[in-house]
Amino acid sequence: MNNQMELSFLAVAQNEAFARMVISAFLVQTNPTLSVVSEVSEAVTNAIVHAYTEKSGKVIVRAWIDEDAIRIEVEDMGRGIENIEQAMQPFYTTQPDQERTGMGFALMQSFMDSVRVQSSPGNGTLVFMQKRLHENDE
Ligand code: ATP
Ligand code: MG
Repeated sequence: MNNQMELSFLAVAQNEAFARMVISAFLVQTNPTLSVVSEVSEAVTNAIVHAYTEKSGKVIVRAWIDEDAIRIEVEDMGRGIENIEQAMQPFYTTQPDQERTGMGFALMQSFMDSVRVQSSPGNGTLVFMQKRLHENDE
């Protein structure tokens, strides 16, 4: 099976649920575990919550379904992350007062097979993640 989609939406809280539904509807053909949808949602929530503090902007989600894996990109054009390694540490958050626990990236890394973050301060962030399909066949 080969399939692809791209979704673009404004980075506002109401679109967290919208994005989750669309991603889940797209991935249903792969019979994904719920956790894949949840980890993509973590990245979407991050873009909505952290990326645009001074201006508003868009979030773009791209997803590919290939024979061997699901690949997802979540991109924003927001403030970016200065220290990616630090941001990905469990419990690291820049919003401790907003009920954030700093576990978003840690969860993504534990449930997905790979998570890569590219970011440049002032220009935005791209989170790439991958989950292998049919792991039992290998
Ligand atoms: P939680 O996910 O538990 O609610 P959190 O979002 O703060 O808390 P992570 O998802 O692990 O924790 O992200 C860690 C930090 O990385 C954030 O506090 C924020 O500073 C930064 N960050 C994450 N995503 C982005 C982004 N798209 N743009 C800018 N900064 C980001
Ligand atoms: Mg988060």
